[in-house]
Amino acid sequence: MPDSRMTNKNGMVSKIQTRIRTDLFKNNYDLVGKELGRGKFAVVKKCIEKTTGKEYAAKFLRKRRKGEDCRMDIIHEIAVLESAKSNPFVVSLHETLHKDNGLSPAMNSSQGAAGGEIFNQCVADNDEAFTEQDVIRLARQILMGVACLHRNNVVHLDLKPQNILLTSSRPLGDIRIVDFGLSRCMDNIKELREILGTPESIGVLTYVMLTGESPFLGSDKQETFLNISQINVDYSQDVFEGVSSLAIDFIKSLLQKNPRKRATAEECLKHPWLSGHPHSHLHSSHLSSLDEPETPEESDPEPESPASTP
Ligand code: ADP
Ligand code: MG
Repeated sequence: MPDSRMTNKNGMVSKIQTRIRTDLFKNNYDLVGKELGRGKFAVVKKCIEKTTGKEYAAKFLRKRRKGEDCRMDIIHEIAVLESAKSNPFVVSLHETLHKDNGLSPAMNSSQGAAGGEIFNQCVADNDEAFTEQDVIRLARQILMGVACLHRNNVVHLDLKPQNILLTSSRPLGDIRIVDFGLSRCMDNIKELREILGTPESIGVLTYVMLTGESPFLGSDKQETFLNISQINVDYSQDVFEGVSSLAIDFIKSLLQKNPRKRATAEECLKHPWLSGHPHSHLHSSHLSSLDEPETPEESDPEPESPASTP
C-alpha cells in the first residue's frame, strides 16, 4: 500500500491524494432524475458532468452530523476510495467538490452503478430473484473485492446488501462495493476496539442473496441479538428450497461464533461451492488488475480528470 497513507490509531486516514476542487458542484454538474439512494448520513443523486456529458452518482455528505464537525470522516472516506482505485469491485471515485459556500457538503462524484443495490433483487419475486449461479458469480466478485481491500489493510465494516451495487440489473452486471464511511485502515493497528457498523459477514450476504431472508432476523431487536449471539440460523429445506448443499455448507462455514474459525476472503474463494470455474464469472477487463493486485498506481498528473469511464 502507498507509504504516503497517514493512518491514526483509530484506523482513520487523514490525507487525501487529489485535492478537493474549490469549484462548486452546481457549476460543473447538472442533477438529473430522482435520487439514487440514501443512507444514514448521505443522499446520492444522479448527475451529468457539464463538460463531458457523462453520468455520475454524486454523494452529498453533511459536514456536520449531530452537531459535530465530521470533515475528518469525509476525508477518510475519500482517502480510502482513492487507495482502492485499482480494485475493480469498488466504485471508482471521480472527484470531490464543494456544494455551496462555506459549511455545506463536499461531494464525491463516483461512477454510477445503474443496477441499484443487490438488496432489491434479494427481496424480489421469484422470476426476478437471483439464481444460485448468479449468486456464485456475485459472491466471488464480492470476495475478490474484499480480499483486495484486506490485502491493502482496509476493512469495510459495513458490508450489507444496501452497500453492494450492480453495474446493471438486467442483464445482471457486476458488483461494486460502496460506502466506506465506517471502513478502517489497519496499517498501524493490531486490533479494532471500537464497535462499528454491521458485522462484516459474507456468510450473511450469501444467505440473503440465496433465500431473500436475513439469517438472524427475529421479531424484535432483542430476538435478533439473541439469534446472533447463539448463531441460531434456519437451514431448513423450507428456506433453502432448490439450493445446493454445497452452498449451505459454505454459509455454515462462515456463520460461526468463533471468528478465528471463519474463513478469510481468500480461503472462501477456494471453497468448492465457489472454486468450480475459475475466472469464468469475470469480464476479461478485470483479469489484468487482479493478477497484480499490488501494482503501484501511477500518480495522476491531472486530478480533475475522470478516474475511469462511467
Ligand atoms: P451512507 O453512508 O449514507 O449509507 P452510501 O454511500 O451507502 O451512503 O449511499 C447511500 C445509497 O445511495 C446506497 O445504499 C445506494 O443505494 C446509493 N448509491 C451510493 N453510491 C452509488 C453509486 N455510485 N451509484 C448508484 N447508487 C449509489
Ligand atoms: Mg450505506
